[in-house]
Amino acid sequence: MLDIMSKVEELARLKQEMEEDTSLPLRTNETRLVFGEGNPDAELYFIGEGPGFNENLQGRPFVGQAGKLLNRTLETIGLKREDVYISNVVRFRPPGNRDPEPHEIAAFQPYVDREIEIINPPVIVTLGRFSMGKFLPGERISQIHGKPYELKWNGKDVTIVPMYHPAAALRAGAVMQQFVEDFKKLPQILEKIKEKNQPKPEQMGLV
Ligand code: URA
Repeated sequence: MLDIMSKVEELARLKQEMEEDTSLPLRTNETRLVFGEGNPDAELYFIGEGPGFNENLQGRPFVGQAGKLLNRTLETIGLKREDVYISNVVRFRPPGNRDPEPHEIAAFQPYVDREIEIINPPVIVTLGRFSMGKFLPGERISQIHGKPYELKWNGKDVTIVPMYHPAAALRAGAVMQQFVEDFKKLPQILEKIKEKNQPKPEQMGLV
């Protein structure tokens, strides 16, 4: 496992590689790279869809209305934005905020996977159907939102918690309610993982 300084260095290297990768789709004179940001040692890794207008302007993920809702909802469970890591499946803004296409998601995938490997979070929260599809293909968000799924990702145990996209929550009151309720489950999900990973007394040589 990497220490935090190594993670910072590895993430900076990854960002540099992406800046230099001219094969990446959606790179135009009008778009700028929006890399992930937050705590490299985060227990919660949030992954959305792709940058919008404001994210493209600032070069930071989730800084528009959807991002403000994400920040506010994190606060309801006692977390600040800086405590978690926030990222996207595609890293340049799709024109007119259209949905990212499968080949675009595929092109960014090796970078996203390396980012996850560096951060090595116990919990990945997918925001919306595109990031959900990366880990739980073929599922419907309306059926599975808020439920933790334990799976192996690149050989490591990880819990995926699919959630609605905050932009969808801003469009519909019922979705907003679910979004807020689903967030409330995160502390308990993290607690359970910690309990599970705690060394048993016999492993500590106590019995
Ligand atoms: N929506 C996303 O999916 N990602 C962002 O960074 C902003 C809005």
